[in-house]
Amino acid sequence: MHVVVLGAGVIGVTTAHALLDDGHEVTLIEAEEGPACGASHANAGQISPALSAPWAVPGLATKAVGWMFAQYPPLRLGKVPDLATLGWLLRMFRAANAADYDRSKRAMVALGTYSRERLAALRAALPIDYAGAQRGTFVLFRKRDQAAAYERDLDALAQLGVAGMRIDLDTLQRAEPNLDVAGAGIVGAVHLPGDETGDCRRFTTGLLDAIADRTGFRLLLSTRASGLQTAGDRVRAVSLEGGGSIAADAVICCLGVGSSAFLRMAGLSVPVAPLKGYSLTIPADSAAVGPLSTVSDETYKVGVTYLRDRIRVGGTAELAGFDTSRPEPRYAGLLHVVRTLFPTVPEKALEQAERWSGLRPMTPDGPPILGQARLDNLFLNTGHGTLGWTMACGSASVTADLLAGRRPAIDMAPFSPLRFAGRGG
Ligand SMILES: Cc1cc2nc3c(=O)[nH]c(=O)nc-3n(C[C@H](O)[C@H](O)[C@H](O)COP(=O)(O)OP(=O)(O)OC[C@H]3O[C@@H](n4cnc5c(N)ncnc54)[C@H](O)[C@@H]3O)c2cc1C
Repeated sequence: MHVVVLGAGVIGVTTAHALLDDGHEVTLIEAEEGPACGASHANAGQISPALSAPWAVPGLATKAVGWMFAQYPPLRLGKVPDLATLGWLLRMFRAANAADYDRSKRAMVALGTYSRERLAALRAALPIDYAGAQRGTFVLFRKRDQAAAYERDLDALAQLGVAGMRIDLDTLQRAEPNLDVAGAGIVGAVHLPGDETGDCRRFTTGLLDAIADRTGFRLLLSTRASGLQTAGDRVRAVSLEGGGSIAADAVICCLGVGSSAFLRMAGLSVPVAPLKGYSLTIPADSAAVGPLSTVSDETYKVGVTYLRDRIRVGGTAELAGFDTSRPEPRYAGLLHVVRTLFPTVPEKALEQAERWSGLRPMTPDGPPILGQARLDNLFLNTGHGTLGWTMACGSASVTADLLAGRRPAIDMAPFSPLRFAGRGG
């Protein structure tokens, strides 16, 4: 079968790889000049099944009001929301109830865990250097009530078979010797030992290099998909901007924040909204001055991650449409976190740090959208939000399973594209 995969972020490239392994011919189409130029470029580097959870958390409204007055808010409104964003926000607040949260979290943890297994298998088969490490996540609390609230998450994780434990501050200090536990006012911590870290862009480009010469693979860069040509209930071809088209037996949409606009042209309403985030890539030996693994600062919702010769600091969420500008004040929160947690990181390295912003492809309820959509041979693998690196290899595998008519290893119902039908689109 000739499958056209749209988008060469981490989701599209892992999907292309899984489909080639299944014996398909694959054409991968990407609008930019290279892979991983979108959200997959410089994310926080956490591969974290244990932190997989929706933003639509019970009590979201109260939290959001509190964040409006915070010095470094984890979530902010970057501009007055348009009607589409308001509709998306409404859906998110509707999903922020205990039952929906629990269902979505279970599904996301299951996909994250399965994805970690698939990543390990891929690592064993292909030698890709992505500065990866398998040393878990340390969640840091600067306030006592955060630690108490996290107990509930640990119980929920235990029920899902995911390891997580409270650790004392001496244990934390031994595990992360460069962390200024006392100076930063850390009062508690949790260790999630099954989590991993790694550079998503290096992985994506490395995987693409590894499949570049495979028989049946074709890569079209600087090529924008502009629509779908259909015949009855099937896609016949993908139209290209500037003319021409590519015939397809099946199409997989992995367009990240480009998904909604593209699919709308095919008559599909898919609520994937851009949620802007920022990162710093600090040129410094992480083992010498930064984390040995990844630390997640619960107060600011910022991750600081070991990437060997660099330290990645990522976080913040802003509803700002498709704007990817990088005003320096937006990095103040990230700089505050790294200065307080790892004060031995030289100021010079902070000045030289690469400033980046990217758009997370968010669904309102949390889980990505995976599966066949309306047309018989159109599949979606999109909407991975804050966790696309974590969920990439698993999402690719289940997509290949669905295309082949195999039963995926996890329950697919919570990821169905149909779950939004009848709720305004
Ligand atoms: C600040 C920040 C921190 C993050 N931290 C983490 C983390 O620690 N762990 C984690 O798991 N996740 C993290 N994420 C989320 C993760 O980066 C994303 O979920 C993931 O990269 C999404 O991958 P994608 O392939 O779907 O999207 P993208 O990487 O954006 O890829 C989509 C591709 O489609 C292309 N495209 C769009 N429209 C068209 C078209 N019409 N034709 C052709 N090509 C097109 C784009 O150019 C792009 O290359 C973070 C995100 C941000 C912004």
